[in-house]
Parts: sequence; C-alpha cells; structure tokens
Amino acid sequence: MIKISIRNVTQTFPARGGAEPYTALSGLDLDVREGELLPLVGPSGCGKSTVFALIAGLVRPSSGEVLIDGVPVTGPALDRGVVVQQYTLLPWRSAQANVEFGLEARAVPRRERARRARDLLELAGLTGDTERYPSELSAGARQRVALARSLAFDPGVLLMDEPFAGLDARTRESLAEDLLRVWRHTGKTVLFVTHDLDEATRLGGRVAVMTGAPGRIKEIVSDREAVATHG
Ligand code: ADP
Ligand code: MG
Repeated sequence: MIKISIRNVTQTFPARGGAEPYTALSGLDLDVREGELLPLVGPSGCGKSTVFALIAGLVRPSSGEVLIDGVPVTGPALDRGVVVQQYTLLPWRSAQANVEFGLEARAVPRRERARRARDLLELAGLTGDTERYPSELSAGARQRVALARSLAFDPGVLLMDEPFAGLDARTRESLAEDLLRVWRHTGKTVLFVTHDLDEATRLGGRVAVMTGAPGRIKEIVSDREAVATHG
C-alpha cells in the first residue's frame, strides 16, 4: 500500500527582477509506503523542504501530483502532523497543555485530553515534570513535546523537516531513538527530512536520496551498508 505518492512533480518559483523562474524540483517521483519511516536525505538547497511543503499542502505543485491515499493534496489538514526544526510550542502553556491544545478545539473531554497528552509525552520520551513551560525545558525536550503534540490528532502521516537540526549529536541520537519508539508503537507513515546521512541511515530501512539543481530523487537505497558508502 502506498500512503504518499509524488508523481512527476515540477516546482518552479517566480523569479525576482526579470530573471528566469527558478526550478526547485523537476520530474520528481517518490512513494512512501503505508507505515514506513522514510528518511529523505540530500544537501542543503536541493529541495527537501519544498517536498515537505508539497506534502503538507503548504505549496501547490507547478505540475504533477501529490497524493495521500490516492487523493490529491489540496491544502494543510489534520491527517498530516508536522514537526519542524524551529521551535513552535506555545510559550505560555506547559508541556502538557501544549499537547492538549489542539484537542481542546475538538471538544475532546477534559479527562480524555489529559490522559492522551500524558501518554503521548511519555511515548515521545519526555521524562520528568510535564507541567514545565517550554522555557524551562531543554531544546531536546521541547522537540519531544512538539513530537507528542503532532500526534495528538492521531494523524495517519507525520512530516518532519530537519526536526533535530541544531541539536548536539548525543541529543539527536537520543531523539532518533524516541522517534523510532513512537513509530514502532503507532505505525504512522513518517517522512523524515534531513541533510545528515548518518541520521537517515539510523532511522530508515529505505532511504530516499535527493540531488539538487533541480531537485529530484537520485536513488532509493534499501541496504544500510550501501547507504553508508554513498556519501
Ligand atoms: P532544502 O530544504 O533541501 O535546503 P529548499 O526546498 O528549501 O531546499 O529549497 C530548494 C531551492 O528552492 C533553494 O534554491 C531555494 O532557494 C529555492 N526556494 C525555496 N522556496 C522558494 C521560494 N518560495 N521562492 C523562491 N525560491 C525558493
Ligand atoms: Mg530545508
């Protein structure tokens, strides 16, 4: 079963000052299988975030198709949870209240909200006081809260754009373990964007390798050792 499908997508951005439009992606094809955690790795500027934005529904393709469960993506929706590098928690709410936030709008009863948020924080590896505010948490703990929050609506798809970039190596490794636990436990379909090949191979059975100018999939590597030698 294919969960996310990108078919022959070309993405051009309008140019400033009379230059030619910029082609960020050209004829890009990518399938993410149902329940797969697929790292998408490539150098800075090759178009990874553009792929992320297309699947998230933040950008419409210039040509080609982006499908989820065979249905074209027309905009952002709650069937896709999102985690990005930049810290996006509400500073005036505790970790627990950040995860509960979305559930409030959905009229999930209070007790149920609290229980679900606690379970998700635990699953994401947040140990210690969940009543702490983001400013009282380490950068790694904040990304665990962001991960838990992205799961609150129980989306089928999790989209992550360099969520662990900017953190130290040990924290990144520990967050990768947390993410693997979340993934194994929930069976979500995850697209994980990174420029770090080691991180990609740590996370994925298959790894999609992108190349730039213009962006496209260079290869899908499924053997870990083969990936490690590609660079
Ligand atoms: P990555 O995430 O791999 O670093 P991006 O998808 O952010 O790459 O960007 C790919 C290319 O497209 C870059 O050259 C970037 O400057 C360009 N680009 C991205 N978004 C826009 C935009 N809105 N307008 C013009 N150019 C863009
Ligand atoms: Mg990017």
